Amino acid sequence: MRKILPFTLFLFAVSPLAYSAPGAVRCGKLLDVRSGQVLSDQMVVFDASGTIISVSASSSIKLPNGVTAIDLSNATCLPGLIDVHTHLTGDPTGNGYASLGISVPRESITGVKNARLTVRAGFTTVRNVGASGYTDVALRDGIDAGEIEGPRMRVSGPPLGITGGHCDNNLLPSEFHYKAEGVADGPWAARAKVRETVKYGANLIKICASGGVLSKGDQPGTPQYTLEEMQAIAEEAHKLGRKVAAHAHGTQSIKGAIRAAIDSIEHSSLIDDEGIALAKQRGTYLVFDIYNDDFILQEGARAGMLPESIEKEKKIGRLQRENFRHAHQSGAKIAFGTDAGVYPHGENAKQFGKMVEWGMKPIEAIQAATVNAAELVGWGDKIGTLETNHFADLIAVSGDPLSEVHVLEAVKFVMKGGTVVRNEYAAK
Ligand SMILES: [Zn+2]
Repeated sequence: MRKILPFTLFLFAVSPLAYSAPGAVRCGKLLDVRSGQVLSDQMVVFDASGTIISVSASSSIKLPNGVTAIDLSNATCLPGLIDVHTHLTGDPTGNGYASLGISVPRESITGVKNARLTVRAGFTTVRNVGASGYTDVALRDGIDAGEIEGPRMRVSGPPLGITGGHCDNNLLPSEFHYKAEGVADGPWAARAKVRETVKYGANLIKICASGGVLSKGDQPGTPQYTLEEMQAIAEEAHKLGRKVAAHAHGTQSIKGAIRAAIDSIEHSSLIDDEGIALAKQRGTYLVFDIYNDDFILQEGARAGMLPESIEKEKKIGRLQRENFRHAHQSGAKIAFGTDAGVYPHGENAKQFGKMVEWGMKPIEAIQAATVNAAELVGWGDKIGTLETNHFADLIAVSGDPLSEVHVLEAVKFVMKGGTVVRNEYAAK
């Protein structure tokens, strides 16, 4: 301990994050994402730690000494967006057999590139659900230390899965003895894997409850982890203060995961009425990645995806969108997650249009990516709205996102924790 402490302090002292200043942003319009109301001429004031200290009418505010407001009087401000399902260390070029040639260090470099694209697209927080070699932990820590540009990250480390399942790697024949690092069979092995993943820095646990689209030799609709295994994982993770996200396309796996007290269902493709009712009863979040279907069908073959993957997507994509609409109409809790990495990073906001096309009002799609996502991430008191004591994570767009949600695909101003990441409104 005596050796470690000075080293830690030294790292903290050189962190650029330690140096910040109070400031303010003047918003011509500001969307209150809780109420859906648009407020005119608002001033958001934050302190040197990048925390909001007030949000009020510009005319009523006297700025602290030395503070000049950033002028966004021609723009609409919103809280920074949140994507709860990303894979920043992967690109859509590394699919199928091409993925075998990508080293873990190379994935880290890819992550640095994608973290920047993501935050500059207005996503100031992401939940990264699955990465090799703890590259996601390294990426999160590099961003938090101010060494590289990127969103706030909550990361899972390697996803847990059964031998031969969606979260194993099934591309090589047996003589290579290859097994993905998150593979754990049986309740106790799965508990041990939860402990190991937490030990190396995971903020949450990701598991593969059912088969998947981009994996070889399995079917999205078929179960993988048993109820007993999922109960063990959820209990162990919750004991250690971690939430669990379950990849689940299949009807049975979705319901099993909800019954096992898992916190969010990722993909949710073949959810039925009973599954929706269970999710509502337990407060489980549903995440539907309904944009990337278009990318997989149009670009998947060129991106190296296996022919079987494209066939699987053809069967499941439309059903997922229909079930998204049904789950939303039934009042289930939905958080915005896109599976970025399956399609190119930085295009996350393209999913808003799909969510509106399939039954949400624009404000509901925005709430899925702000207040709802913040609650699922476990940071409902820090992100997802522009209010006192929240991080000054603020974006701005031209136009009205409540009548034309596509304007979120062209974010022109991004601030994270009081630091400007991008400002196209600045006088040139
Ligand atoms: Zn994913």
